Amino acid sequence: MSQLSDQKHNIDAQAFCEVTTSQMHVIDRGVYRGPHLYSLTPMIRIKLDLGTLEEWPSNRLPGFTERLLSLLPGLHEHGCSFHERGGFVHRLEEGTWLGHVAEHIALELQTLIGARVTRGKTRSVKGEAGVYNVMFAIVKRMWDL
Ligand SMILES: [Zn+2]
Repeated sequence: MSQLSDQKHNIDAQAFCEVTTSQMHVIDRGVYRGPHLYSLTPMIRIKLDLGTLEEWPSNRLPGFTERLLSLLPGLHEHGCSFHERGGFVHRLEEGTWLGHVAEHIALELQTLIGARVTRGKTRSVKGEAGVYNVMFAIVKRMWDL
C-alpha cells in the first residue's frame, strides 16, 4: 500500500471512529400484507434517517464489507441490481449506502430462517437528505415457510 493510500486509510479510520456515535433513526414504518402501491408482494417499509452516516457509504467504512460478509456469508448469493451471484458484494465494494445494506440484511436474515424472499428496494426520499425508504419482501405468514 502506498504512503498516500495509508494516509487516506488512516484519515478515514479516524473520521469513522468519530461518526460511530451517530445513530440511524427509524422515522416511520409500515407493513404491507397484500398488494400495495409498491408491489403485489407482501413487504415491510422502513423510513430510515442515516444521519451523519449518509456521508459513509460502505466503501468508506474500514473493514465493513469484510466483517459483514463474515457474519452473513449468504450475502454473496444476493444478485442485487446485477441479477447475478456476487452483485450485492460488488455494490458493497464500490460503495453503497447503509439503507441499502439494511435492506439486504433484512432479506438475508429471513433467508436464514427458511424464507424465500429476495425482493427489495431502497430509494432516497425526495427533499430529505440522508433519508431512505427501505422496502423488503416478507413471507405472508410464518407458517408459509
Ligand atoms: Zn440491492
